[in-house]
Amino acid sequence: MTQVHQLYKLQETDTEIREKTRRLREVLAGQQPSAELLAARERRNTAVTTLHEWQTKHKTLRLEMESLRREAKNAETRLYSGKVTNPKELADLQHKIESLGRRIEKSEEQVLEAMITLEDAETEETAAAASLAEIEAAWEAKVTHLKVEQDELALTIHKLNGVRQAQAKAIDPRDLKEYETLAKKKNGMAIARVRADTCLGCRLTVSANKIKEAREGKKVYCGSCGRILYPY
Ligand SMILES: [Zn+2]
Repeated sequence: MTQVHQLYKLQETDTEIREKTRRLREVLAGQQPSAELLAARERRNTAVTTLHEWQTKHKTLRLEMESLRREAKNAETRLYSGKVTNPKELADLQHKIESLGRRIEKSEEQVLEAMITLEDAETEETAAAASLAEIEAAWEAKVTHLKVEQDELALTIHKLNGVRQAQAKAIDPRDLKEYETLAKKKNGMAIARVRADTCLGCRLTVSANKIKEAREGKKVYCGSCGRILYPY
């Protein structure tokens, strides 16, 4: 195996490690809760809070209404008991009963309105819970898939790093250093294949003489992009 061929094999490993690492980052990012899931959770939380608020409000209003009704009933019982004979007191009682009647009517309206709002809040809470359950199930299924892929990727990257180490060990340290420096500058491609008479690194023509020298096993650089040519 020529030196350039060894470097080319190393570059293939590096490319694969880079691709698997990029995918691993995607796979990790994909396991974060999605915007859709966060929105569904938020909707459910709001629905639960609203429902509890209206349950409390409805209960308070209903108790208020019942208290007014009891008060009115007591006043009526007293009015018709025959025990009150004083005309002033009788008139006051009648007045009180009328006043309570108006308050009860208003209170009943409030209870009814609160009940309607409470029913709406219950409907929304049920819908929000169902929507969240659906989105959460889909997300969990996705995360389960991604976790499997994550484990596979981690194992593959680990193996590739081992391969890379073995490949690098077989290469002259100066050549390795040159390759690594060039790869950094050339977007990971330090070694460029040649097809027909074209450098695949920059798509420009390589002279026949350079191709010939490269085929003889010499280290030859592309005159245009500076990559090491691998003429196969
Ligand atoms: Zn080139």
